[in-house]
Amino acid sequence: MTATSNAASTAAATSASPASTAAADAGVEAAILPYPDGDFFGFESLLPADELARLNEIRDWMEANVRPIARDQWSRSEFPVHLIPKVAELDMISPVRRQGYSHLLAGMITAAIHRVDASFGTFFSGHDGLFTGSIELLASEEQQAAWLPDIYALRKTGVFAITEPNAGSDVAGGTTTTAVREGDSWVLNGEKRWIGNSTFSDYVIIWAKDVADEQVKGFLVETSREGFSATLIENRIALRAVQNADIVLKDVVVPDFNKLAGANSFRDTNKVLKTTRATVGWQAVGIQMAAFDVARRYAVERTQFGKPIASFQLIQEQLVTMLSNAQASMGMMVRLAQMEDEGTTRNEHSAMAKAFVTKCMRETVALGRGVLGGNGVSVDYEMAKIFCDAEAIYTYEGTYEINTLVAGRAITGIAAFV
Ligand SMILES: Cc1cc2nc3c(=O)[nH]c(=O)nc-3n(C[C@H](O)[C@H](O)[C@H](O)COP(=O)(O)OP(=O)(O)OC[C@H]3O[C@@H](n4cnc5c(N)ncnc54)[C@H](O)[C@@H]3O)c2cc1C
Repeated sequence: MTATSNAASTAAATSASPASTAAADAGVEAAILPYPDGDFFGFESLLPADELARLNEIRDWMEANVRPIARDQWSRSEFPVHLIPKVAELDMISPVRRQGYSHLLAGMITAAIHRVDASFGTFFSGHDGLFTGSIELLASEEQQAAWLPDIYALRKTGVFAITEPNAGSDVAGGTTTTAVREGDSWVLNGEKRWIGNSTFSDYVIIWAKDVADEQVKGFLVETSREGFSATLIENRIALRAVQNADIVLKDVVVPDFNKLAGANSFRDTNKVLKTTRATVGWQAVGIQMAAFDVARRYAVERTQFGKPIASFQLIQEQLVTMLSNAQASMGMMVRLAQMEDEGTTRNEHSAMAKAFVTKCMRETVALGRGVLGGNGVSVDYEMAKIFCDAEAIYTYEGTYEINTLVAGRAITGIAAFV
């Protein structure tokens, strides 16, 4: 798909007025033509042709399959599970480690998916980065051979469970879920909170403290195991299509084979989080571009005082700030992806990027919400959904504060959060 055709589909899908006419649309297309896809600094030109083609293939799929249903699924708080076999046909799990694509492409794919729908994006990032990534980074070759084929093909889906009702930012030391070795098995007991899509996933990676050495270790748990239950958290305002749940583990027994061979302390968990925090930075880029798409479209269409509101200087300043935030975020994420490809990233790099980009995101979606006036609080106009989804991204995978303090420790040598 060319940049122009992509912009056309994005514009059509995010039309600011449900009643906008074809004639008005044609005028808007002409008005926004110079930067139809919002790629103001041409970041996508950094991708080689085959990767750009792959990005556009996934964009087209999202526009055709997810965009038309996303608002409704979000409003009803239901995940489109029927799309999982369809998305499997795209063969998009593990683009870097398995398929050999660049981190830059993987990041741009994440942003593109979130630009259409952050709930669907969170399903993808949860299964691909947190869950599959844990197995790729921390499982033995034998474990990987047993599990990964079904996981790559999305015949089985999985999620990652570390947060607990009373352990969030301090999970490294505060985890209370226990693992007790009994012969060739482990017995798990405890509670987890906020675990995305665990109501329908086949697997959950449970992080639990081994009572023998007090270290946090990772276990692949089939959700069908006796003693495992997941209860949907109701009344959420963000990522409503994601099925976040409270998990209870009551004497859940798993074979020793299910203990991830290389997950023996929180230091190992951090190897996964280092990569997934970068992914969340890309999610926040996608959210900002989504807000920009909707706000620009609305500003050009909406008339007040006899003129499009986009003709008012204050509105233009807000649109420019939104796109500047998104492009500055993209610039930081592009460099982080290059460093990932070089193998030079450290925890503080992904932490600073996640903190900075999500801070920009909060300003961007707030400006976008304002540009839509009263319609900015209606999910029918898309912006309210984007605005709410941003709040989850600001908080998960380490809050803004915690990621800031990880970066703060790196630049001062002093830890402010332990
Ligand atoms: C929609 C959603 C999906 C999620 N999905 C998952 C999932 O799939 N798997 C999973 O394991 N978890 C998941 N989480 C949990 C998420 O990672 C936690 O919410 C997050 O780590 C924060 O923990 P907490 O909510 O317990 O907040 P708390 O740790 O209680 O923090 C509350 C506030 O205090 C601040 N704070 C805490 N300690 C400090 C400090 N030392 N200095 C300064 N400020 C501090 C925090 O920044 C925050 O502002 C999800 C959360 C949400 C909202």
